[in-house]
This record gives sequence, C-alpha cells and structure tokens, in this order.
Amino acid sequence: MTSTELTRIPILDLSPEIDELWDELNAAVQRVMRSGHFIMGPDVLAFEEEVAAYLGVKHAVGVNSGTDALIIGLRALGIGSGDEVITTPFTFFATAESISSVGATPVFADIDPKTYNIDPAEVRRHITPRTRAIMPVHLYGNPCEMDEIMAIAEEHGLLVIEDCAQSFGARYRGKQTGTIGNVGAYSFFPSKNLGAFGDGGLLVTDDDDVAELARMLRAHGSRKKYHNEMLGYNSRLDTIQAAILRVKLPHIDRWNEGRRRVAATYNELLRDVSGIVTPELSEGHVFHQYTIRLTDADRDEVQKRLEEQGIGTMVYYPVPQDQLPIYEEKYSVQPQSALAAGQVLSLPIGPCLGRVEQVQVKAALKNALRPANVD
Ligand SMILES: *Cc1c(COP(=O)(O)O)cnc(C)c1O
Repeated sequence: MTSTELTRIPILDLSPEIDELWDELNAAVQRVMRSGHFIMGPDVLAFEEEVAAYLGVKHAVGVNSGTDALIIGLRALGIGSGDEVITTPFTFFATAESISSVGATPVFADIDPKTYNIDPAEVRRHITPRTRAIMPVHLYGNPCEMDEIMAIAEEHGLLVIEDCAQSFGARYRGKQTGTIGNVGAYSFFPSKNLGAFGDGGLLVTDDDDVAELARMLRAHGSRKKYHNEMLGYNSRLDTIQAAILRVKLPHIDRWNEGRRRVAATYNELLRDVSGIVTPELSEGHVFHQYTIRLTDADRDEVQKRLEEQGIGTMVYYPVPQDQLPIYEEKYSVQPQSALAAGQVLSLPIGPCLGRVEQVQVKAALKNALRPANVD
C-alpha cells in the first residue's frame, strides 16, 4: 500500500456529530440571533437546569471557560493567598494556572503510571499544615480514585475541586465526576467530549453558598447589577454556546459509549503490537483521549512516522506542568509524570471512528514502530 491510497485520519473529526445535528444546531443559533438576548439569555438558564439534572447536582453555573470554572470554583471555596492546593503534574497548564491565579500555591503529587491520574498515596505524602484543597484531574476522561481522595480530604479537613474538563459524562461508581467533591469544573472547549462552537465552561456544586458566590464572581462580583460587592470576572457562558450545548447534551451518553467502543476495538487490535501499553477500559472511562505508552521506541520519531502515513496524533502532555518554564526549578521532578511525558501518544478517537480507520491506524503504528523494535 502506498500512502496515496490512504485517507488522512485526523486525531479528532468533529464533523459527524455536527452533520447529525445540523438542522437543530442552525435553528438554535438562529433562535438566539432573533431573540436579542445575547448575554445570560433564556438558553443559559435552561442549559444550567438541564445540565444540573443530567449530572445529578443541585447547582450548575455557566461560565466562559473551563479555566474560569476552576478559578471561580477555587475563589468560591475561599481558597487564596497562603493556601496550598495539591494537584497532578500531568495535565494541561490551566489546572495549576487556576491555583496560581487565585494566589494559592500548587503542590504536585505524582501520578499512578497505570491510569496517569493523581496517586492518592502521593497526595497523602504532600499534605502540610497549609494544605486547603485537592484538585484531582480525571485525565483523558478516566475517573480518579475518588473514594480514596475523599477519604483523605475528610481525614484532613480538605476541600476537593474536580477538574472535569476531559471527563464530561464519566461516572465513578455510578456518580458523575464533578459531583463527588465540593466543586466540579467542566470545559466546553470545542474538542472536549461535550464541545461548544467556541469557549465555554461550567461549575457545579451542591453547596448553596458556593453556588451563590460563583454566580456573583462570574458577573463582576455583583448579586444585583451595578451593586458590586467584590472583585469578580466577566465570565458568563455565552448564550449562543448555551443554545448549542442544549442541542448536544441529550446525545452525550451515546457519544461517550461510541468512544468506549472505539477504545475497546483499539485494545483488541493492538494486543499483538509489542513495545506499547494500551489503556485499561476501566469503569466509567469516557476516553476523551485514547492514549498509549511507547515503552521502547523514540516517541517523537514514531509520531513523525505516523504523520507521514497520514495519521494525526498528539502528545498530552510533553512537559509536566511542574517543569514548565513558569515553575521551573521551584519543584523537584515527579518521576512517573516525567516518564509518562516522554512516552505517551494519543491516537485518533471520536464517537464515530470506524473499525476500518482503526485498522489503518494499527498498520501505520506497526510500520512506525518496526525499526525501533528490531532485536
Ligand atoms: C481543557 C482543559 C482545561 C481548560 O479548559 P478551557 O475551557 O480551555 O479553559 C482545564 N483542565 C484540563 C485538564 C483541560 O483539559
């Protein structure tokens, strides 16, 4: 087979779900345009009610991004200067950025190499008298060990804010991620499992006071217009995005099931490929990413060879956030996160990816690995 016979397979193709809902999406956007209610319009309130019901939580507060959901969540929980928040090094920078943004100090606890999620034993090791909260990240859509994290929090009187940017719809022992800790923060960045057509985010909580503070913080610190009580943000969920999310929300469980099916097929197809570790099809995992580990090959070289064969891949994330230039030298290297950063590779995935394409990904991966695997 020559590469010209192959269709390119991007890491993510949003078009099937957009095509499927095209007429409804158009009608929703047009309804907002006609309504003239562009800021906090009826679709925002309706979406907040619908998503709260879906997640099984008392309050849902729409904000401008997942990053803002984390920042506003931390502030609504009263976390700020002098406080330490324990989180994972192996995530997108927005996680630690939110902690630093509110004046608190991120403390990094290493990951479990099997799940890439924060290791509860490591969390325990990093608790100090200044620790106020734990911020677990359900990376790649895989729920963290929440029972253990909540037990540690209870034991030490800590708050828990879940970064659910990659785990919309993921369930941990039957409960939605984001509804187990004190606050859950979601992102509707277009590539996330539930994606808008621009930026968007959501904060959820069962705590009435936290919800009220979050609603104030997203609107310049005011309960009542022009009666500002604190420094807040201009961070509302856009009405057009809310209308789009209302169209997509009823389909999320089916789409997440599709992602799990694609992951199961990859695991079956890749079983006989040596030099890689495939992810576990663990309970509740919604496979925002399907991420393999290359244990004895040059990852960047393999990625390049896949690209040459038309297979789009990504590295989430090449540098653990504690080793980013902004924090460099402040933190010691966490070995499992550093190792993962050098070995992980995310393959194309989406709810509608077909087996034929996955077979093509496998063939390309075997090609890309061959020279590295000679013995
Ligand atoms: C995407 C993401 C965020 C930030 O969400 P935005 O909506 O882009 O601000 C935060 N944490 C993680 C783990 C993410 O993947």
